[in-house]
Amino acid sequence: MTTLYEGAFAKVNLTLDVLGKREDGYHDLKSVMQTLSIRDDIEIDVGTGKPWKLLCDKEGIPTDERNLAWKAARVYCDAMKKDPNGLEIRITKRIPSEAGMGGGSADAAAVLRALNRHFGEPLSVMALAELGAQVGSDVPFCVMCGTAMVEGRGERLRKLPDLPECFFVVVKPDFSCSTAELYKKLDETEIAKRPDHQAMESALLAGDLGKIAENIWNVFDPLVTAEHLEMNYIKSIFNSYGAVAFQMTGSGSAVYAIVPSFEYAAVICNMLRENYPQVFIGKPV
Ligand code: ATP
Repeated sequence: MTTLYEGAFAKVNLTLDVLGKREDGYHDLKSVMQTLSIRDDIEIDVGTGKPWKLLCDKEGIPTDERNLAWKAARVYCDAMKKDPNGLEIRITKRIPSEAGMGGGSADAAAVLRALNRHFGEPLSVMALAELGAQVGSDVPFCVMCGTAMVEGRGERLRKLPDLPECFFVVVKPDFSCSTAELYKKLDETEIAKRPDHQAMESALLAGDLGKIAENIWNVFDPLVTAEHLEMNYIKSIFNSYGAVAFQMTGSGSAVYAIVPSFEYAAVICNMLRENYPQVFIGKPV
């Protein structure tokens, strides 16, 4: 039996635009995604000789074939025609759920990377990302990591320059948002402001954190902020304590701030911890 170890890194959306609904019912997206150092840890025993098993230290996460990590292992073994002779997947969860941070997708991507390494890297990163699309829309990006332009349902990826040195403070409020309902609402309303992706790409190329901050925009943010006024409270703390930008990630409900130094991040973190148990500090990776 061999044990594999892999980090599963959270993502945030620096930009998120919904371009329209497709005939297959999915939406076409355009988003600059960023991997953060906030992570789950994945351990996989390969060759247990027993039926597949999944353990997770956090309650409320499925521990059977509904778990995206399990699904990823299944997709990999089927596609590559590999029989691992029994798997046990153990997940140590730190990425908050229903946050828009791609927690399940990150775990799935980590399983794909770990199994691919175990079997001698038969797939390139891009081929592995393509396989990940069978597991979930955010999985291809989570396989690739870094900073990237993500399009389509999440399967079209283009690497972008890394973010300049900075820190992220992420807060997960208590409430959750229904992604399906948010898409429905968006379909029914005129999107008043969309991200300027050309300007964001130029800012990233120039490594200009101020300009990157100016171009952070998620079309879901105004919808959620209008319904949950505590988003304004969180943002006012971010604004008062030195954040260069703040925004909800994905379809929420986590909100992040970008700050220029760890000192700022620590101050904001301490301010918010009084009211929010789920506050995290991360770096772009
Ligand atoms: P996204 O940013 O992709 O929208 P999310 O932040 O909304 O993700 P996840 O952490 O991916 O949320 O979890 C959403 C749901 O997916 C959970 O409530 C859980 O039931 C299910 N799920 C399946 N596999 C996992 C996993 N490995 N980790 C967490 N949740 C999982």
